[in-house]
Amino acid sequence: MERQSSAALSPAERAREAAARLEHLYPEAQCSLFSGGDPWRLLVMARLSAQCTDERVNIVCRELFAALPDAAAMADAPLSVIEGFVRPCGLYRRKASDLKEMSAAILRDWAGRVPDTMEGLLALPGVGRKIANLILGDVYGLGGIVADTHCIRICGRLGFYPEAQSDPVRTERIMTPLVPRERQAAFCHRLVQFGRDVCTARAPRCAECPLSGICAHVGAVTEK
Ligand code: SF4
Repeated sequence: MERQSSAALSPAERAREAAARLEHLYPEAQCSLFSGGDPWRLLVMARLSAQCTDERVNIVCRELFAALPDAAAMADAPLSVIEGFVRPCGLYRRKASDLKEMSAAILRDWAGRVPDTMEGLLALPGVGRKIANLILGDVYGLGGIVADTHCIRICGRLGFYPEAQSDPVRTERIMTPLVPRERQAAFCHRLVQFGRDVCTARAPRCAECPLSGICAHVGAVTEK
């Protein structure tokens, strides 16, 4: 692929530039899980989204939340009822059990409020760093790099680490200091949109990509 010219930029400068170009491309940075701003609902939806599309989670949760609208209702519901709702999301037994236990833990240990610390969130059944960072960034405005498949792939292609690396914790550790905390949540939402529209897993559209001038995948990166 033809090398494209770009000024030498430090990784932080390139990350800032990438964030700015993504913001221009997607002025509205929106989570693709439609939780209506309810922290507990976002937590439930994030848990259901593992190995499932956000689109399907949105559909499933319309009925789920109509029947079980809050943590108390979920904690009280028979496991078989929850399983019936979440079955289309796959891994439904594990997910249903996590939703019930997570809701009970929030009521028991957090007075019904979704925790606002990484430690508190990680202590909830079924919650890993990806979900915790989503909650910290979207709900509490504390920032958080949500190292999902799009984030890992695109940041690797952009050259912030080798493209072959696929460890979410490493991606989070490398990207966290490069993106200002207050912009991390929006940056990650935009990466998801960008990963679906332009920098797709199988056929990235590099020729028409607004980030090509700062992308290592097309040879446009000169380290400062
Ligand atoms: S130039 Fe290609 S690989 Fe790089 S960000 Fe754009 S679409 Fe992805």
